[in-house]
Amino acid sequence: MRLETKLIHAGVRPDPSTGAIMTPIYQTSTYVQAAPGQHKGYEYARTQNPTRDALQQALAAIEGGSWGLSFASGMAATDAILKLLSPGDEVIAANDMYGGTYRIFTKVFEKYGLRFHFVDMQDPASLLPVLNDRTRLIWTETPTNPMMTITDIAAVATLAKKHNALLCVDNTFASPYLQNPLAFGADLVVHSATKYLGGHSDVVHGCIIGNDPALEERLRFIQNSCGAVPGPQDCFLVLRGLKTLHVRMQRHCENGRAIAHWLRNNPKVGKVHWCGFEDSPGYEVARRQMRDFGGMMSFTLKDDRMEPAIKVLSSTHLFSLAESLGGVESLIGHPASMTHASIPREDRVRGGLLDSLIRLSVGIENVEDLIADLDQAIG
Ligand code: PLP
Repeated sequence: MRLETKLIHAGVRPDPSTGAIMTPIYQTSTYVQAAPGQHKGYEYARTQNPTRDALQQALAAIEGGSWGLSFASGMAATDAILKLLSPGDEVIAANDMYGGTYRIFTKVFEKYGLRFHFVDMQDPASLLPVLNDRTRLIWTETPTNPMMTITDIAAVATLAKKHNALLCVDNTFASPYLQNPLAFGADLVVHSATKYLGGHSDVVHGCIIGNDPALEERLRFIQNSCGAVPGPQDCFLVLRGLKTLHVRMQRHCENGRAIAHWLRNNPKVGKVHWCGFEDSPGYEVARRQMRDFGGMMSFTLKDDRMEPAIKVLSSTHLFSLAESLGGVESLIGHPASMTHASIPREDRVRGGLLDSLIRLSVGIENVEDLIADLDQAIG
């Protein structure tokens, strides 16, 4: 089965009790047993829920994994992966990634004895000085949020294997439509399904997908023991979102390409970060591991003081000023004060994330309307 068919059919079968074609929202906390221990595979809804099961199977299928696990948010999924580690273990992470991931690493897990090294994942050689026999996990995003840099997943996976470390790729920006990290040797894929997978800005959700049954068992144990599970209605919404991922992503990519080039040709715009430009540093790797380049990008104005950037951020009408990304509607954001405010300024600026950087999540509206909106805002 190809991806487009899996997105619609994987994990979903007519409801056994009624034949309902859409997986019902099993809004229940528990399941009746005929006698102690005699049940239909469902005992308590933190542990199992049929709506969640359907979604988990669909998620595994579309990422090319053998299992998938759903969580209450992308951060809950990240939290579960970090709980695989023990005090003294070390993690190597990208120095350009979602601010909340940086925050949970440094502000939550450092105090439990984990040690984090942040490196430039664009260059696999930058891992070498910090890789050691305590390295248990390598964590990257590709493309990164918000600088759109690319990690060579296969090259980093080779290093991870050599050092017996796990490689986890946050595939939120690409979505499984554009990239399947497991196929390039990653051990775990994590998503904020709040974004492209849900696709309609109406649900917060996270997931982990992998192939190793031992990792599945450990993560399933953490999912059930710690309890950061999603409700069935949220699972239903993500399952519904998945069914149109391919058609939405096609349009995100088309609109993204048009807007990235339009921005680049605009005399008032400074630097545009989008991984589909042939002269962008990660282009060759992106072409190898991605099927297209998506609708996420960031840019600065030629006049890169804060004031003109704030004016653009406050003057768009179709691009709504809001955190998040990946929905059908276009969003504009200011990473320094919004999504990445939890990263200390000096660390942000060192990674190229200037105070004046503007991020776009290009939606699936008519692209000429979107360009006209940016045009009037940039002036
Ligand atoms: N990973 C990336 C790349 C994100 O952009 C986000 C949220 O913006 C997350 C993870 C966290 O996901 P959630 O907001 O669903 O907890």
